[in-house]
Amino acid sequence: TKWVYHFGGGSAEGRADMRNLLGGKGANLAEMSALGLPVPPGFTATTEVCTYFYANGKKYPAELTAQVEAGVAHIEKIVGLKFGDAKAPLLVSVRSGARVSMPGMMDTVLNLGLTDETVKGLAEMSGDARFAYDSYRRFIQMFGNVVLGVEHHNFEDILDFHKQEKGVDLDTELTAKDWQKVIADYKAKVEEELGKPFPQDPKEQLWSAIGAVFGSWNIPRAITYRKINDIPEDWGTAVNVQAMVFGNMGEDCATGVAFTRNPSTGANEFYGEYLINAQGEDVVAGIRTPQHLTIAGKKANNSTLPAMEETMPEVFQQLNAVRAQLEKHYTDMQDIEFTVQRGTLYMLQTRNGKRTAPAALKIAVDMCNEGLIDRKTAVARIDPASLDQLLHPTLDPKAKKDVIARGLPASPGAASGKVVFTADEAEDRASKGEKVILVRVETSPEDIHGMHAAVGILTTRGGMTSHAAVVARGMGRPCVSGAGDLRVDAAQKLLVAKGHKIAEGEVITIDGGTGEVMAGAVPTIEPVLSGDFATLMGWADEVRKLRIRTNAETPLDARTARQFGAEGIGLCRTEHMFFDGARIIAMREMIMAEDVAGRKKALAKILPMQRQDFVELFHIMKGLPVTIRLLDPPLHEFLPHSREEMAEVAAASGITTDAVAYRASQLHESNPMLGHRGCRLGITYPEIYEMQARAIFEAAAEVKAKQGETAEPEIMIPLVGIPKELTLMKAIIDRVAEEVAKETGHKVPYSVGTMIELPRAALLAGEIARDAAFFSFGTNDLTQTTYGLSRDDAARFIQSYERQGIIERDPFISLDTEGVGELVKIAAERGRKTRSNIKLGICGEHGGDPASIHFCAQVGLDYVSCSPYRVPIAKLAAAQAAL
Ligand code: ADP
Ligand code: MG
Ligand code: MG
Repeated sequence: TKWVYHFGGGSAEGRADMRNLLGGKGANLAEMSALGLPVPPGFTATTEVCTYFYANGKKYPAELTAQVEAGVAHIEKIVGLKFGDAKAPLLVSVRSGARVSMPGMMDTVLNLGLTDETVKGLAEMSGDARFAYDSYRRFIQMFGNVVLGVEHHNFEDILDFHKQEKGVDLDTELTAKDWQKVIADYKAKVEEELGKPFPQDPKEQLWSAIGAVFGSWNIPRAITYRKINDIPEDWGTAVNVQAMVFGNMGEDCATGVAFTRNPSTGANEFYGEYLINAQGEDVVAGIRTPQHLTIAGKKANNSTLPAMEETMPEVFQQLNAVRAQLEKHYTDMQDIEFTVQRGTLYMLQTRNGKRTAPAALKIAVDMCNEGLIDRKTAVARIDPASLDQLLHPTLDPKAKKDVIARGLPASPGAASGKVVFTADEAEDRASKGEKVILVRVETSPEDIHGMHAAVGILTTRGGMTSHAAVVARGMGRPCVSGAGDLRVDAAQKLLVAKGHKIAEGEVITIDGGTGEVMAGAVPTIEPVLSGDFATLMGWADEVRKLRIRTNAETPLDARTARQFGAEGIGLCRTEHMFFDGARIIAMREMIMAEDVAGRKKALAKILPMQRQDFVELFHIMKGLPVTIRLLDPPLHEFLPHSREEMAEVAAASGITTDAVAYRASQLHESNPMLGHRGCRLGITYPEIYEMQARAIFEAAAEVKAKQGETAEPEIMIPLVGIPKELTLMKAIIDRVAEEVAKETGHKVPYSVGTMIELPRAALLAGEIARDAAFFSFGTNDLTQTTYGLSRDDAARFIQSYERQGIIERDPFISLDTEGVGELVKIAAERGRKTRSNIKLGICGEHGGDPASIHFCAQVGLDYVSCSPYRVPIAKLAAAQAAL
């Protein structure tokens, strides 16, 4: 078996599309090598080695030793150095790399191959002893920590001690001699901690490092990251071993990271940061303030430090050319890592860059306009769920703001929440329903769970490419990074700003679009959508087959949904038309009434109000279909609760409060969701549905007469389980339609259909379809009734089910395609058999869930209906389902 793939020297055995085998990093290193880009040579041990390793009690396949040795020889040949050689030692990095990037999750070891012997060779060879010993101490530090498990602070303490003793602030101020002292102390510390000396055999170092990378697949923070991002446990990581290049050899050396376009706004500008005379993670770790690549970037961020464009103009131009080449080749925005060694550029990584939702939209639309990708690709590129970020509120520009500090606008969006200082505290409070802002000096991968739990993230150190910034953008959390005016006093649990001391639990607001940090909560306003958003939604509309309606009952919801392009109302719940204000008293009066006459008298009070509600809705929807569900909730919910409410009803009905109380206790239900609700109300009190039908038809007639608009109501009967229920209700509606037509002279075009929300209804769909012009799958109730799982009580244990792997996702969030979905399929099929043109749709939370929408497209439903804010998400998901 081939376990190892070589790259470098202008060719490679792997390719970008082999990411499953080589991991993302390895596959792209191979691809860049083959493109002729300056990539230090190396080899990749595949993810299959990782799988083998875990399947065989942490042992490697027998052929691996020889293949790794051949890999090392391959590197040696290209660079002309020898691994472990005392005079001309080859140093390598050992880098992890899973299929999808897991930023900072897995550990990388740099400068491997250094020993007390080889470090002398390196000093000779480079003519720079300071550099050689700096590299060695870095190696001991990294290897000691990542591979040997010696805690980081041990090394930090030693380094701080030596800096203090010398009276300097920066690492760069230490000399070769100083580093030798640091190294001696480091080694002593390692020996003290582990009871054996720091390994002096490069081969042993290499194999331990490889083992540590494979081992890091199962460290807690990697497991957490996989859980949050739905990455399967069995994918494994690859290991990349690569010749070292050095950004820490002096002032003509540097290391940096860049995005080929601005990851925050999507603007087509080179965006990145670099540090002179530095190595590896120095840029992202925030050890020194990074400098900008371009003069424009420097100006935009008010930096006083010179840009790479100024300090190394030639290398910068070369890097800029690589930027263009990579974008053209990958046809996507790239996130790159590079190092400059004595004026020579080396590429160390490229991958599709994480970006904010607005940036993703802009980049997709721009790239399509630039001819890099076509419209379908642009549509496929946007994660529907990420649109959420665009549709949500931003700070009200008119609101008073008490700005206490400014940082970098690392991830857009505004958020207010209580200050917390640790990831655990964030998670704790969030689980109790509190909104928190996680405030850290800088974040590290250990903080992932807290970042996820927080509504926003604030750091006092680190740039736009710092860990906090990258992860926040990926999660869609607002983030302000590097707010240097703030000081975190972790011990006292205080956030200290000029003139402010903010304690844990106090509210602040951050604006990730401007970088502002404010005391207290600042009011927000609805967002304005960009032209790119409209363009992309237009492209989505070109391909999508499913229609998208909205669940709306108030004029505000209906208008919002129309603005987002809803193509009708798929579910107008009418219960609020009975609850609002004076209506509830009339409704209770109706419930209390002893006879039909009494009920009709009470309902007559509600009729004009409902009619007016429908007039408004029809007018807003301008002839688009409007599905109106007749009264559905249990009667139980309308009962008066307090003595005061009972007295109110008593007064309106002309009976005693005691009589009301007695009637209320009679009507009490112990399981109301399966009780007197849905069409059962219409069966027992036909007057209710009669009144509602009348309100609908009269409203339609009025809109026609006054505005000349044709409303086409679709009247929907809820909770049908027995075909006869629908037959009876339809008869009432048809009769009222005729009556109203006679009275108003206007024949309203309408249809009658039903919700399919009981398993029995799904099974008997063939018969039900005789009276139903349409089915709307009420997947909330259908999930509830199929599982026999109360959606109001499931929250308490459903997480435990997810954790134990009994169910994959909460079936109330993402449609259970196996069980509930099977019923949907059966009902669709049987319904169509009876009535070939039956209209099919779903309403319920699932209508806005991309995975569920894919299922609906598969089953061939005509439309999905979702809440107004999810309409764009549903449109995009529907388009992707049609690609
Ligand atoms: P991560 O997956 O956490 O980004 P990497 O494997 O990319 O880890 O390594 C982190 C950093 O280490 C790189 O960005 C690069 O600066 C540095 N690095 C890795 N390999 C080399 C190498 N061969 N030569 C010089 N620097 C390297
Ligand atoms: Mg990297
Ligand atoms: Mg229902």
